[in-house]
Amino acid sequence: MIGLISATAAGAAARDRLAAAWPERTRVYDGGVADAVRRAFAECEQLVCFLATGATVRLVAPLLAGKTTDPGVVCVDEGGRFAVPVLGGHGGGANELAVEVAELLGATPVVTTATDAVGLAGLDTLGLPVEGAVAAVSRALLDGEPVALQAEVSWPLPPLPVAEEGASTAYTIRVTDRAVAAGEREVLLRPPTLVVGVGASRGAPVDEVLTLIESALAEAGLSARSLAELATVDAKAGEPGLVEAAERLGVPLVTYPAEELAAVEVPNPSDAPLAAVGTPSVAEAAALLRGGELLVPKRKSERADGSPAMATCAVVRRPGRGRLAVVGLGPGARDLLTPRAKAELRRASVLVGLDQYVDQIRDLLRPGTRILESGLGAEEERARTAVAEARRGQAVALIGSGDAGVYAMASPALAEASDDIDVIGVPGVTAALAAGAILGAPLGHDHVSISLSDLHTPWEVIERRVRAAAEADLVVTFYNPRSRGRDWQLPKALAILAEHREPGTPVGVVRNASRPDESSRVTTLGDLDPATVDMMTVVTVGNTATRIIAGRMVTPRGYRWQTTEEEAR
Ligand code: SAH
Repeated sequence: MIGLISATAAGAAARDRLAAAWPERTRVYDGGVADAVRRAFAECEQLVCFLATGATVRLVAPLLAGKTTDPGVVCVDEGGRFAVPVLGGHGGGANELAVEVAELLGATPVVTTATDAVGLAGLDTLGLPVEGAVAAVSRALLDGEPVALQAEVSWPLPPLPVAEEGASTAYTIRVTDRAVAAGEREVLLRPPTLVVGVGASRGAPVDEVLTLIESALAEAGLSARSLAELATVDAKAGEPGLVEAAERLGVPLVTYPAEELAAVEVPNPSDAPLAAVGTPSVAEAAALLRGGELLVPKRKSERADGSPAMATCAVVRRPGRGRLAVVGLGPGARDLLTPRAKAELRRASVLVGLDQYVDQIRDLLRPGTRILESGLGAEEERARTAVAEARRGQAVALIGSGDAGVYAMASPALAEASDDIDVIGVPGVTAALAAGAILGAPLGHDHVSISLSDLHTPWEVIERRVRAAAEADLVVTFYNPRSRGRDWQLPKALAILAEHREPGTPVGVVRNASRPDESSRVTTLGDLDPATVDMMTVVTVGNTATRIIAGRMVTPRGYRWQTTEEEAR
């Protein structure tokens, strides 16, 4: 919940805009500001104070308890010009909130946390539990001092400007699931690598389950902060001792059908669970089902009175899964790059792409991003590189212009990829859409895209598709329409369309959509001079109903000009 506090009429007006925009997320605290801040501080995860920063600092100062528990606090000035995170920039989410608030109010976010200001990923924002000398190591990263990255387990981290392997370093970022203490100049990152498989008899007490898990981790020298989940058999999904143990550990309880568990090969099967739930192993099988290395084989709980154990557990370390984001950059203009694409570019520690596309977004990359760029034509190799890096456990972004799935890198990459990596697709504005918006509304009814490049596709196949589109009266957008070595394909394709459409059929030609030297024109099938078309261009040919209206290309939604009320809805 976000607590909203204001003192003046202008503050209240801005406050009400926020409250109206986020009714579910916000709560207004009325009355005296001191009391309102005190109540909101106790009850909310975040505060937005429409007060001077000085006043806010004085009010929250006596309430401060600690970096991990204090709410994030954002101040907005009387004029609604600035949103300033004053407390809990990272941990309290105040930096992100300030950006959101600023967007809503048309203000400027004033973010002063050092790591955000220079585009570094804050060590406490990586989405992993972190321990140790966070401030000192962040400082060292900012000052450009060599920091070593010591990864005992692989995990797809965002980019960090760390020193080359073997360089001499005073500071360390250690990625580990072991129960070690951080050194004075060391930060520990805790990736969720550990899975504890658990079995329990009906009515097993939560304390017995928890003690068993904790002692198993402790004796194996493992950190509970790297625990990803508890796993068991479906039949135990509602077992109170397990449900509550997971809750107290702050991890999900994942369950599997007995048949699936029975198929897992385990070192210590037994007859008891076979009779009770239909699998010779619960703890080991549930822990191992998704793969990984068995660190602690099945062990039983101990009871003070010597009665039979009611719980079993086993611990597995799963290998970190690499992450491949396939990111479309849009047609060119920065504001047609989606926020999600931007976030993925900054999330990746390895960027793979064609050099000219890398240039398009280089300024967005975080310090420490490894860039693997190559020239035109090396597509297969780029796809292979991206997948190989992801399989090594890296966070990789593979980029393409427009949409990366349209005549671009997504298919060669996914053809290479096995299911041992996570793949995240980020859609982009493809050239046909960018051109359509410039031309008017040419895609208002059924349409297709056809690439005229016969480098990888035999011309007969392309021609058959053009013919089918012509017969079906589809609006057609030609990608890769014409290059120096391929100049007869476009005239041929247009001739096929002309067999089914009038010479007056509108044709839109857009070159470098949304780029600095963008140009476009609307002409007709009869008038188009193919020599004016090149590889930076798309050509959109209307269907038999497409018209030029006020210089714009318009394809009606129905084949009538008046849409009925039903269609309009
Ligand atoms: N993945 C890209 C398409 C790659 S194929 C996308 O979704 O847009 C390359 C062809 O796309 C070019 O030959 C050209 O026909 C078209 N193209 C890409 N960007 C363009 C732009 N900004 N303006 C016009 N055409 C473009």
